[in-house]
Amino acid sequence: MTDSQVPVVDWHERQPAGDWLRGSSAVVVLSVDVDAESPVLARGEHYLNHLTTMSHQAYGPRVGVPRILDLLDRYRLPATFFVPGVTAERWPSVMATVAERGHEVAMHGFTHRHPVHLSEAEQREEIERSLKCFARFGVEPVGYRAPNWEMTRHSLDLLGEFGLRYDSSLMDDDRPYVTLGSGRRIAELPVQWLLDDWEQYAFLPEPDIGQQIEAPSKVVELWTAELEAMRGFGSLCVLTLHPFLTGRPSRLRALEQFIQFALSRGDVRFARAEEIAALVLGDEQGSATGPA
Ligand SMILES: [Zn+2]
Repeated sequence: MTDSQVPVVDWHERQPAGDWLRGSSAVVVLSVDVDAESPVLARGEHYLNHLTTMSHQAYGPRVGVPRILDLLDRYRLPATFFVPGVTAERWPSVMATVAERGHEVAMHGFTHRHPVHLSEAEQREEIERSLKCFARFGVEPVGYRAPNWEMTRHSLDLLGEFGLRYDSSLMDDDRPYVTLGSGRRIAELPVQWLLDDWEQYAFLPEPDIGQQIEAPSKVVELWTAELEAMRGFGSLCVLTLHPFLTGRPSRLRALEQFIQFALSRGDVRFARAEEIAALVLGDEQGSATGPA
């Protein structure tokens, strides 16, 4: 079988013309998935009666988001917050605050159900409901991340159809590239389980969202090692954080140590996802910030 026969994502432009690195050795996108209660409620509305489980998830918008925002302020760093529609409706003040503090707000499904488990009609409804919900906050999102990063071909086509500019859910590179959705160019900003706090910290007895509580020191070691090596490849380091996990004190300190490490290298920039997408697509100059 040749490469062209493998049914994978279309690398429409494998090495995009846009200079998204802009002289830096690597770029970090701090992406914050404000899932809150949505991944639990996606498994059943009856979890509304599981008070401890609901409170575990509510820690994110209630405590984690304000702490992460304050940390970003201290280092004057931009971030991208992916917000499910259910979270925006349950926590409208969080949605408004994130936008007011100057960060990007992007789509993350409405109910946080995984696209691979939805029909095409259901996927369309998720996007339409999210767009309507965001419009009530005056937010016009340009980016999308699939819940659990579980895209289908149809997901990409819907992004193109609705005019979204980028996705951040796929894993077939560690540099951005351009793919197609409904014939339109879409920037892909790849992710990886290695750079996600969920695999390190997610634990609940019921529902089973994970069974691990790792030491934050181990997580700092994992993430800094990857970024250090990425500097040799000109990579995009998309770190994925969940406020109900990384908002805990020792884990927030781990995030700060990662930020300090990145800044100490002197050649790593931080940027919002939308800025990298714009550079990759050649839409505009972009305005990534950092000590480059
Ligand atoms: Zn999520």
